Amino acid sequence: MTSAPSRPTIEAPWAVAAGDVVAELAGSPEGLTSDEARARLARDGPNAVEQHAATPRLVVLARQFRSPLIYILLVAALVTVALGEYVDAGVIAVVLVINAIIGYVEETRAERSVDALRRLASTSARVLRDRREIAVDATHLVVGDVVLLEAGAKAPADCRILHATSLEADESLLTGESVTAGKSVRPVDPHAGAADRSNMLHMGTVVTRGHARAVVVATGRRTELGRIAGSVQQIRLTETPLQRRMGRFTRLVGGAALAASALGFVLGVARDEDAQEMFLAMVALAVAALPEGLPIVMTVVLAISVSRMAARRAIVRHLPAVETLGSCTVIGSDKTGTLTQNRMTVEAIHAGGRRYEVTGGGYEIAGAVLDGDAPADLEADEPLRMALLAGALCNEAAVIAPEGAAEFEVTGDPTEIALLIAAAKAGLYVDELTDELPRTGDIPFDSETRYAASFHQQGDATLVLVKGAPERVLDMCATAAGGLALDRRAVLEAAHALARRGLRVLAMAYAQRPGGHRDDARDLVFAGLQGMMDPPREEAHAAVTACRRAGIRPLMITGDHAATALAIARQLGIAGEDDRVLTGHDLERIDERELERTVREVSVYARASPEHKLRLVQALQRNGAVVAVTGDGVNDAPALKAADIGAAMGRSGTDVAKEAADMVVTDDDFATIVDAVREGRVAFDNVRNTTFFLISGNAATVLAVLVSIAFQFPLPFVAVQLLWLNLVTNGVQDIALAFEPGEDDVLDRAPRPPREGVISRLLWERTVLAAIVMAAGTLLLFLTARDAGEDLAYAQTLALTTMVVFQAVHVGNCRSEYRSAFRKSLFSNRFLLIGTVSAVLIHVGAIYLPFTQEVLHLEPLVLGDWVTIAAVALSVIAVVELHKLVRRDPDRGRATADRVDAHR
Ligand code: ADP
Ligand code: MG
Repeated sequence: MTSAPSRPTIEAPWAVAAGDVVAELAGSPEGLTSDEARARLARDGPNAVEQHAATPRLVVLARQFRSPLIYILLVAALVTVALGEYVDAGVIAVVLVINAIIGYVEETRAERSVDALRRLASTSARVLRDRREIAVDATHLVVGDVVLLEAGAKAPADCRILHATSLEADESLLTGESVTAGKSVRPVDPHAGAADRSNMLHMGTVVTRGHARAVVVATGRRTELGRIAGSVQQIRLTETPLQRRMGRFTRLVGGAALAASALGFVLGVARDEDAQEMFLAMVALAVAALPEGLPIVMTVVLAISVSRMAARRAIVRHLPAVETLGSCTVIGSDKTGTLTQNRMTVEAIHAGGRRYEVTGGGYEIAGAVLDGDAPADLEADEPLRMALLAGALCNEAAVIAPEGAAEFEVTGDPTEIALLIAAAKAGLYVDELTDELPRTGDIPFDSETRYAASFHQQGDATLVLVKGAPERVLDMCATAAGGLALDRRAVLEAAHALARRGLRVLAMAYAQRPGGHRDDARDLVFAGLQGMMDPPREEAHAAVTACRRAGIRPLMITGDHAATALAIARQLGIAGEDDRVLTGHDLERIDERELERTVREVSVYARASPEHKLRLVQALQRNGAVVAVTGDGVNDAPALKAADIGAAMGRSGTDVAKEAADMVVTDDDFATIVDAVREGRVAFDNVRNTTFFLISGNAATVLAVLVSIAFQFPLPFVAVQLLWLNLVTNGVQDIALAFEPGEDDVLDRAPRPPREGVISRLLWERTVLAAIVMAAGTLLLFLTARDAGEDLAYAQTLALTTMVVFQAVHVGNCRSEYRSAFRKSLFSNRFLLIGTVSAVLIHVGAIYLPFTQEVLHLEPLVLGDWVTIAAVALSVIAVVELHKLVRRDPDRGRATADRVDAHR
């Protein structure tokens, strides 16, 4: 097919017969070729409603000046200009400009990474191209594409339905009505409004039930949604709770800085200092003490952490999740696919009262269904044949055995793939069967009802095939295959025996009904059970262990059978030998109060519906837990929203689940969630450590100045030197601290209490301690030089340099709250090393260059001074190390088990 010269469109595709729409737009019900699709994409442009408009650069730049701290700096600059102190004004201006530049660069970088995430998190669509079903990025859809949709999917464009099974859709985005609308293929009135076009799935509407095949009739801005330009939910750079708390904290510290300066001024004037000089010095002190870099640090830390998480396959959709992850205490996880590989193989079949074993692991083609030692004979064995037939035909998956290959090539749900492969191993091939028994209808699988059915034409009669959870299917059965009586207890016992081996068990049943297709699945004939193995993921065991060590309780919440769930949970260490498992049935019978008690003890929940999952999440939260929960189905959305961290599965997850989630786990892996928790903790540590660095350094400076005024010493720094201090010590190192890679043992600690402040008690203590040491050391050198008769400028140079070197050393203290500075490699954070060394070198340059000497009132130091300064500066390491020793991490050394209990 070659590119059509004009864009094919149909005025009102809902008023035209489905076949005509396809013929006109696609040419074939099998969809477009990829060449044709490419040509159309080039012609029509991407299927996107709104191009995310980047914020104008000037606005981003201007935004950097919108902070109370910056207003103070601006006022300080104006005052100094008014007083004719142009050098001071110049330095303040430089501080302002540098601050704005760093803020601007970091913010645009953060926005770029959020943009990248937006692309990563974009939805994909299942589409027929070159007669094969493939997944494409939804923005690459074109008019004429035939798409496949099922419950949980969001219509990726305006589509005309070609084939629908039990189809219902939620169109509230378009119509504002929250009732779901039934859908069919029948044409409707050409003038029907969007809400009445029952054969259309407009972009953005959500399939809530059933499945459909539909042809795309409009994309991008030409869709109904594009026309009303409704905003689709998107990832945004929102302010996080931590950022808000940080804002309050910064204002507090800023207020303290202003108060300290005012106090200094009053004290100074009271003891007859020159008022103008004093005023200038105090303005400079305020400037030096303001932590104006903090808001930028927050942005940097969040941006780094979001991109680190993305690299570990966790896409954060809401920024607050980054910090919530750090305090997560419970992870409630699905079993299938998240804790297990979701690569199922039927291992055993129970039919007609006999047990059959199936050989061949994974998706291997080699293998057989064995009756004892010999291959089973399907001709002679009606129950086995019907069990395999129902498994293979009531099935949406597809497998092919490529010539010469050792493994099947598969598409679809692994449970169904396993059933197809089991049938193939016994010699039943679907493509041959479908010719004999064409399908006339189906009831799709639903995790709420736990069964699926399909209807087939068999001569004049209808063959009903059902597969699903054994207890559900048994409820629909009246007799057993092979003319046997149905012994429910024996069947359930057999199912239980398979489940105890860790197998996922499905039951198969059928019925032959005279006459045409009837959509009911009752009075069935029980055929048999198939038990399939889904091995645990390799990394899952280690991740569960890591979780426990981190004080996080792993839970398993699954729709699978209790015995299967418990067997897998034991293998993974989620449950111990004596642990209980609770089923959805049990959950129904206990009230909320009792549930709160139960969730503390029981870690495995089986046959649980999404609604039970929601109740579990809420009960855990009432117990004070910070809960992360995984989900994939449409019905999981409420639990994902209710949880503190909703984690949707990237592969198996539906669009609805992903949109309700705070985070998308692209590889569906439990271990990825644990990795994300780690990054969340690192992010918080980095914010905390940087804050500690800034306020302890600033406090030291303020303290040195206030003490000098109180004790009537001359000021250790002149105004411009205070400003300089602010530039060379804080400018780069605080940002560099945000790049700390995180400690190996972040996951060996208990979760941080969610309400704990940015600066903990421990760090407040340490701030006071470090500030006193640095102020004392600085004053010591300053006063000794004065006593030795050195002139003031020389003593001030000494004091200033001491403070600069102090902070360069102190930054090493700030890399970890608990760990010794000596246990951290100097080279593990290049930015910090380079930033600190350059800050010191710049200061050294300033001391010896004539121009800066003059501007900053500096005098050259001699070698002996440097030795003394270095010696004194090391004292801050010694003192902080001592403090770290005395106030060790209270969590370390405590038994893992009680830590888990302490943080339910
Ligand atoms: P989970 O993903 O937690 O294992 P599901 O909701 O997928 O749970 O499945 C619950 C139960 O429903 C399974 O144990 C099985 O008995 C049944 N089941 C699962 N998939 C299918 C399917 N495709 N068709 C019929 N029944 C199914
Ligand atoms: Mg499932």
